[in-house]
Amino acid sequence: MALDLNKYVASIPDYPEKGIIFRDITPLMADGEAYRQATDRIVQFAKDKRVEMVACPEARGFIVGCPVAYELGVGFAPARKAGKLPRETVEAKYELEYGTSALYMHKDAIKPGQKVLIVDDLLATGGTIGATIDLVEQLGGEVVGCAFIIELKDLNGRERLKDYDTLCLMEY
Ligand code: IMP
Repeated sequence: MALDLNKYVASIPDYPEKGIIFRDITPLMADGEAYRQATDRIVQFAKDKRVEMVACPEARGFIVGCPVAYELGVGFAPARKAGKLPRETVEAKYELEYGTSALYMHKDAIKPGQKVLIVDDLLATGGTIGATIDLVEQLGGEVVGCAFIIELKDLNGRERLKDYDTLCLMEY
């Protein structure tokens, strides 16, 4: 039976700062059946896309994307913050509310022409996922879809993803 996954998201007011409602997926991950159903829905979305790699930004993206890669039987490419990857990397900068940040991927993480599914826990402004797409495309990968557990509608991250087939399991 399909679970109502909304019941497995905790909403924490004023975290990490006043006025923000933080959506916490750790209850979903703590429940084996809910975690499996969320994973299975992303795997279903990816099934006819001939995905060859899953790419995810650290760190919560890994929690969602790794079981998807395992189920699809494909490889996993991590996008990480500065100083975390030991070999030669490509870089993608993105805007934060105050200032900028950057994500990195190993230069050989994606092979030219590979079909890539990008996965993260949550879509807010789309900055993080935009940088991850940028990295994959710099390496010659083809982004065939983007999948998230949660979309924060008001922040309009979808606008950035309008050229990509996108799945969000829940909206807030
Ligand atoms: P964006 O770059 O503005 O789209 O923010 C999305 C990124 O920030 C994701 O990688 C999330 O893990 C993280 N994030 C932003 N807001 C939340 C939240 O309410 N809960 C969990 N993660 C969040």
